Amino acid sequence: MMTIEAKLATTRFNVDEDNAHIEVDPNYPDMAEKMKLVNACPARLYRLQDDGSLTFDYAGCLECGTCRILSLGKVVKKWEYPRDTQGVEFREG
Ligand code: SF4
Repeated sequence: MMTIEAKLATTRFNVDEDNAHIEVDPNYPDMAEKMKLVNACPARLYRLQDDGSLTFDYAGCLECGTCRILSLGKVVKKWEYPRDTQGVEFREG
């Protein structure tokens, strides 16, 4: 089985610069809720800052849906698949 690092190395992203397919509330007040995403995102796109806020970079998203399941309507404000031809393209299974 490939590791996530190996998968990422063979994965190509077409980043849609004009349209963030996921939007988050960086200052959501519940720390536990933010930490769920920090720990759960396989691409490590959610990062907690020293001031307790979250940063999020949608560009490396694997579209796994984990953050949508965990926190849509809370930290995650919007979750859509990227527009046609944008987003992740898996080149190995
Ligand atoms: S969909 Fe998956 S890879 Fe993308 S930000 Fe959410 S948890 Fe991370």
